[in-house]
Amino acid sequence: MDVSVFSRREFWGTGAALAGGGVAVAEGDWFDRPMRLAQLTLVENDPGQYDPKFWLDYIRRVRADAACLSAGGCVAYYPTKIPLHYRSAWLKDSDPFGELVAGCRKMGLVVVARTDPHAAHQDVFDAHPDWIAVDAQGRHRRHWASPEMWVTCTLGPYSFEFMTQVTREIVALYQVDGIFSNRWAGSGMCYCEHCQKNFRAACGMDLPRSNDPQDPARRNYILWRQQRLFELWKLWDAEIRKLNPHARFIPNTGGGALSELDMKRVGELAPTLAADRQARRGLMPPWANGKNVKEYRAVMGRKAIVGIFSVGVEEAYRWKDSVQSEAEIRLWVADGIANGFRPWFIKFSGTLYDRRWLRVVEDIYQWHYRAERYLRNEEPLARVGLVYSQQSAAFYGGERAREKVEDHILGMYQALIEARVPFEMVHDRMLEAAHIDRFKLLVLPNIAALSDAQCEQLRAYARRGGSLLATGETSLYDEWGRRRKNFGLAEVFGARFNGRLEGPMRNSYLRLEKDAATGRFHPVLKGLEDAGRIINGVWRVDASPAGMYPNPPLTLIPSYPDLPMEKVYPRQPRTDIPGVFLREAGNSRVMYFPWDIDRTFWEVLCVDHGVLLRNAVEWATNEEQPVTVAGPGVLDVTVWRQKESLTVHLVNLTNPMMMKGPLREAIPVGPQKVRLKLPAGARAKKVQLLVSGQTPRVEEAGGYLTLTVPSILYHEVVAVDV
Ligand SMILES: [Zn+2]
Repeated sequence: MDVSVFSRREFWGTGAALAGGGVAVAEGDWFDRPMRLAQLTLVENDPGQYDPKFWLDYIRRVRADAACLSAGGCVAYYPTKIPLHYRSAWLKDSDPFGELVAGCRKMGLVVVARTDPHAAHQDVFDAHPDWIAVDAQGRHRRHWASPEMWVTCTLGPYSFEFMTQVTREIVALYQVDGIFSNRWAGSGMCYCEHCQKNFRAACGMDLPRSNDPQDPARRNYILWRQQRLFELWKLWDAEIRKLNPHARFIPNTGGGALSELDMKRVGELAPTLAADRQARRGLMPPWANGKNVKEYRAVMGRKAIVGIFSVGVEEAYRWKDSVQSEAEIRLWVADGIANGFRPWFIKFSGTLYDRRWLRVVEDIYQWHYRAERYLRNEEPLARVGLVYSQQSAAFYGGERAREKVEDHILGMYQALIEARVPFEMVHDRMLEAAHIDRFKLLVLPNIAALSDAQCEQLRAYARRGGSLLATGETSLYDEWGRRRKNFGLAEVFGARFNGRLEGPMRNSYLRLEKDAATGRFHPVLKGLEDAGRIINGVWRVDASPAGMYPNPPLTLIPSYPDLPMEKVYPRQPRTDIPGVFLREAGNSRVMYFPWDIDRTFWEVLCVDHGVLLRNAVEWATNEEQPVTVAGPGVLDVTVWRQKESLTVHLVNLTNPMMMKGPLREAIPVGPQKVRLKLPAGARAKKVQLLVSGQTPRVEEAGGYLTLTVPSILYHEVVAVDV
């Protein structure tokens, strides 16, 4: 039964996705050309006050090959003729946008115009109060940061009519190569008259007042909002292409499990995309920038993915004119580049208050320019795929999606980084053989909501010899977040759900068991043999073996009191309840942890859980990784093929500020011994280290190349011409 008035076909695509998207990037299009991008976001008082020559010179010096420049929307930086399109009060007779476009054109750059439709001035409100967003109490929304302005409704005529006119005018006057729109997807829930009417027309319901995704109105809203935004995207894109067939609409959109627009459709529509993750904040590791690009690549395939970075402090208090430490900027950008981003720096305000970043970005970009041949990647060579699921976040996680969905991914990501395993990310609605058969192992970190068809795709993958590593409630819910009686993947896991979830558990453990037949520990317990027992997670799925399972390597020691201390002794020191399910069939290996090992790892970072996850990946993959790197420290390791070369990127994350920035300094680590698998029949012609400039001594034997990287400060790239 379809629980929604919207069919899955209409909203979640047809299931017949093409690798790298349905919209082809034609020969002669510009999207794959730029490798380094520059963005200057003007502020309203820049015209007449800032120095455009300085900026054009800087863009030339850093060898940027595309520029994104402020054009219009909430403030116009050109002499617009459109009524209500607010011109900068400093504009006078000037055309600062046109001036920058001309300067960039002269240097041969691709030029993209920036618009921002999310806020409007009082005259817009006076003329069209219905263009303004309305809150749940029926009040028009003033802008939270600039209270003289109003927040616009993006799903109504302000976007569909007024911003369409603005978009057309910019393309017609300046023949730009694209329109990049910031904050185009709205600023939260809107209850304006258009949203009420259009939502009722679409599904016969009133706009939802609850955030519970099991409320039918909320579920329909989640889908309807996406439909409206995709309609807007297609409208602007079509209008742009009528005026310049080579230009496109490039929305500022996309992300991982928690992002709200269906990434599969985003990947189909976008010719290129920019991930707007300007810096890290709070408790965010530097590998988060690499994670962004992996999430985008899962749906973009070979298409160019750009990583926007600011040079400032990106915390909730939004010091937009600030400048970060050099080490922080360098590491953030390096991890993005290592994972396949093309760097795009953004600076707000043409007037500079702090110039320290200029040299840093120039250095990074000039290195990038020199190394460009080895940075034009054809494909990643990773054999492990980490699955993410927007439907699990939307319909199973709901308001607790961060904890129930994203924290599992983050824990698994951290474990893979610590294990130095190269890996990609995989979108859960792109599980066709064409997408996933290049992986030997798919990791399912609490991928709770999976349709019957998705479960069958995973079963078929295992039948073809693919391995699976799953945790928690994976496949226990359908695609709408409704719980099943048993796991959708019960037969693959060899486990049966007993109808009960337990948690949060305190003071529970897992006992390490030897195989009764061999008297040995299973390889998944390697390095833990002396432990006897290790700590359990926090949430447990009550599951029993579906058939014979005589020797589970880990068994449950149930929770027992943790106070008073006199009472702290196990009431049940031994059970036969498995803490892990293992299966082998041909080349396929399946490992299922019926608890939140990944989420607990993210919360607690227990060393034993890290060891267990590393062993689990190694056992389930059951083949040598394409590259292994031995040495001290924490590294993000990626491995790539270009047209005539291979590269291994090593990003040095080893730092006391790794889990909470900003970095004070980089701390070199090394030596690192690198062992790289060569493509069948290939010989290495030339090997270089692209950052240090050294030529390492290399041994080649049995199809593998081994070499030592003496030291890594931020980033090293082993480049092998083949
Ligand atoms: Zn509205």
